Amino acid sequence: METVADYFGSMVFNDAVMREKLPKDIYKTLRKTVSEGKDIDLAVANSVANAMKTWALEHGCTHFTHWFQPMTGITAEKHDAFISPADGGRAILEFSGKALVKGESDASSFPSGGLRATFEARGYTAWDPTSYAFIRDDVLYIPTVFLSYTGEVLDKKTPLLRSMQAISDEAVKILKLFGHDDVKRVITTVGPEQEYFLIDRADYAKRRDLIFTGRTLFGARAPKGQEMNDHYYGAIRTRVAEYMKDLDKELWKLGVSAKTRHNEAAPCQHELAPVFATTNVAVDHNQITMETMKKVAERHGFACLLHEKPFKGINGSGKHNNWSISTDTGMNLLEPGKNPKDNAQFLLFLVAVIKAVDDYQDLIRCSSASAGNDNRLGGHEAPPAIISIFLGDELTEIMESIAAGKAAKGASKTKMELGVHVLPDISKDTTDRNRTSPFAFTGNKFEFRMLGSSFSVSGPNIVLNTIVAKVLKGFYEKLKGAKVFEEAVADLIRDTYNEHSRIVFNGNNYSAEWVEEAKRRGLLNLKSTPEALDAFVAQKNIDLFSEFGVFSPTEMHSRYEILNEVYSKTVHIEAVTLHDMMVQQIIPAASSYASFLAQAINSKKAAVPALQCRSEISTLERVSELTDVLSEKVALLQSLIDKSAMHSGAELSHFVRACIVPAMEDVRSVSDELELLVGKDYWPVPTYADILFYV
Ligand code: ADP
Ligand code: MG
Repeated sequence: METVADYFGSMVFNDAVMREKLPKDIYKTLRKTVSEGKDIDLAVANSVANAMKTWALEHGCTHFTHWFQPMTGITAEKHDAFISPADGGRAILEFSGKALVKGESDASSFPSGGLRATFEARGYTAWDPTSYAFIRDDVLYIPTVFLSYTGEVLDKKTPLLRSMQAISDEAVKILKLFGHDDVKRVITTVGPEQEYFLIDRADYAKRRDLIFTGRTLFGARAPKGQEMNDHYYGAIRTRVAEYMKDLDKELWKLGVSAKTRHNEAAPCQHELAPVFATTNVAVDHNQITMETMKKVAERHGFACLLHEKPFKGINGSGKHNNWSISTDTGMNLLEPGKNPKDNAQFLLFLVAVIKAVDDYQDLIRCSSASAGNDNRLGGHEAPPAIISIFLGDELTEIMESIAAGKAAKGASKTKMELGVHVLPDISKDTTDRNRTSPFAFTGNKFEFRMLGSSFSVSGPNIVLNTIVAKVLKGFYEKLKGAKVFEEAVADLIRDTYNEHSRIVFNGNNYSAEWVEEAKRRGLLNLKSTPEALDAFVAQKNIDLFSEFGVFSPTEMHSRYEILNEVYSKTVHIEAVTLHDMMVQQIIPAASSYASFLAQAINSKKAAVPALQCRSEISTLERVSELTDVLSEKVALLQSLIDKSAMHSGAELSHFVRACIVPAMEDVRSVSDELELLVGKDYWPVPTYADILFYV
């Protein structure tokens, strides 16, 4: 029987395939250029392209594509056939090094935030040899970065690679001070846990809101929600189990190590977690995972919803970004050590993250902001918009005692003086209990839990890598000339913790008291996307990204524009969809139910004049009343949509948030009330009960 090992990675042009298919010297040169981050020369590219083509054709490919991650959050691809016309009406199959390394692409249809005048619409894609090519649906996918002709980046991958370089450079310098001369590179790793909903495709096809916006814009509560907690980790239903099996297999073929799968809190909600990988690979793999989830769902008669909040009143979907830092020698820098020296190093990296998160709360918040996630953050199912760090009681106690200059229980006097303790075994168990924290230390990594389920994990990791690089750079300046290194490290750990301990919070992040407490501590509470986006372009953040060459100031401003545009367009589409569904489907349905009631009353009275028809009359009155109110609210929504044309950019985002979002809520609440009155056969779209409980 074929085992997983036989097909895992079978559709990937990975290291093993390259070693087998490439001439030895070419393979070596390629490996060297990749590990040193140098440019590939054309001779090598030609040889790699040829081997790739042969391998792809053997696997039945007809096309290749440069695969990239524009600012829209999804991935983009344009397929080119391998064939070139040849003499005698025949075709030859071609794929040159040039075609591998660089692709031309009309960039004018991708968001660029004013970076590109329309007359200079060209952009190009450039091969990213650090991520493997793969095959899907008979197409060879080549991971690339996407740039404008003038060199500005138009994608999410280039800045990610730059941020990985930045943190590596800074961490390596610090590690040298600790005597780790063998470390050449430091790598951040990411394991993104992905939540999703699976619903029946027939229901999906009947709701235009799901089709156009990915979520239901209205829908009354079902009699049952998730109050029984009977779905979380529950037995997986056969049809869903079949889907998961198929999904895993597809992902494994593409080298994505999907590891765990289970039901989530909400009905129809599930989760998939991979084994962690180097950040840029993890980003690619998460994109592949999301795309594959959707494709496989179609085959099984499902629709896979990746929206952050598909159903009101039911938990939304997030993504947990597990993030850690390790060396090319295999040392995890966020893992408590076995001896005092290693612990000093661990504590130094730990306080670096604490300081980074405190100094750049705004950027962290911003990296989790989107129209979809606004429906979820702070909703007693996901962390609030306030950034804090969970360390766990044990580690917090240690940090507090270091901060106070005291010894932790059991630590000896000399170690105490150095502020460097033997850490008790901080097991995963004791660090993973608080599920309400947006940013939790979980034993040997941090888990950033605010991301929305549809996000590319690129943005949050660009931020994490860069802010920690910045702090490490400052640490290096303080430590490099130290007379007694151990003392300087101890002082730095203590002082940094003292300055930034306000960001540490181990309590319940969902509670109202925390909002008050956070305010007293001076922590930011950027409640919505437009507020968070404004913080993105604060001077200190522009300085930060320029300092490390991750974004130029121009690129920052262009991203700011794009993010605002994506936000306001998303809400705009929702508002128009809601409006149209009300006018074309819900109001007519309510009217026909009302006229059914009126006819029923008339015919009953005609038959038996003494009948009072109290039930029909009161329902008719209420339905008519609500229909009138609904029409008014819908008209108001339309007038606000019209008004939004007078705004643009960030101002439009604020207008949309302040006016359109609440107007949509108003429409919805009337419609939801109507839904509970109108006869089921008259309601024109599948209800929450239909969708959530019949898979
Ligand atoms: P759980 O949170 O379900 O108890 P784990 O802590 O083992 O399970 O892992 C959760 C996720 O964290 C997984 O996707 C895993 O790959 C990822 N993860 C584990 N270690 C690391 C690491 N060093 N760096 C990044 N991600 C990691
Ligand atoms: Mg988790």
